[in-house]
Amino acid sequence: MGEKAGRRRPGPLAGLLVAVVVAAGCMGGGLDQGEPEQPGPRPNGPAASPGADSTRADGTTSVAEFKQDFSDAVGIAERYWTDRFRASGKQFQPIRRVVPYTRSGEVSCGGEGLPRNNAVYCSAGDFIAYDVNWSVGAFRQVGDAFLFYLLGHEYAHGVQVRLGIRYNFTIQQELQADCMAGAYIGDNVRSGTLTLAEGDLDEFREGLLAVGDDPNQPWFAEGSHGTAEQRTDSFFRGYENSLDACGLG
Ligand SMILES: [Zn+2]
Repeated sequence: MGEKAGRRRPGPLAGLLVAVVVAAGCMGGGLDQGEPEQPGPRPNGPAASPGADSTRADGTTSVAEFKQDFSDAVGIAERYWTDRFRASGKQFQPIRRVVPYTRSGEVSCGGEGLPRNNAVYCSAGDFIAYDVNWSVGAFRQVGDAFLFYLLGHEYAHGVQVRLGIRYNFTIQQELQADCMAGAYIGDNVRSGTLTLAEGDLDEFREGLLAVGDDPNQPWFAEGSHGTAEQRTDSFFRGYENSLDACGLG
C-alpha cells in the first residue's frame, strides 16, 4: 500500500498503528491538468448508466459525469470481486463507501486528514476516497480509461485487506494492486462488460507513466510504488493473464 498513516510517526508504536490504520496513498502527484482525450472504455449492459455513452470527444467532462462514471466503475468492481470470491467459495463484502472530496483534510483516514491530489483506500474505515478535481484533471489529461485504472487499483487494496495480503515492502503491495487492476479491466473486457475504444490501451500506458516513481527512489523505500516500467509490466500482466499473473489464481 502507499503511505501508511501510522508510519509517519517513528517510534515503538509505529508497527502497531500500521496494523490498524492504513491509508494507501496511491496516485499522488505526477499528473498535471491538461489536454485531451479519446473515447474510453464504456460499460455495457446493465452496468451502463444513461449518460455512459455521452463521451466526451470535446474534452469537457464534468465533475458530475466523472462521479457517475466512477460509480459505474465501482459497480463493475463489486461484481467482479464478488464473482471471483464466490468462485473460490468465499463471500465478498464490497468496500463500504466511495467518497469524493475537494479540500485537504475534508476526509480523514484513521484520524489523519487526506491531502489533495490523491486517491486512497483507507483500511481504517474501509473506504476509497479521491480528490475529485484532481481525478477529473487526470481523466482529461490521460483519458477516461484512467478512471478504471484508478478505481481498479484502489479497490484492489481493499481486496488485499480482505485476503489478508500484507507484503513486507510497499512496492510489492502496489505492484500487485496494479496487476489486480489490470485483471479487473482485462477480464471485464473479455467478458464483454467493458468495451475498450481505440487508444485506450495507450491511455493506460500514459497513465502508468505518470504515476511511476522517480527512478532515483529506492525500491525498498516506504511508499515506493514502482517505476513506470514496473507498474506498466504489472498492469499488463494482469490485463492479459488475469489474476493468475498477480499471484491470486
Ligand atoms: Zn496503491
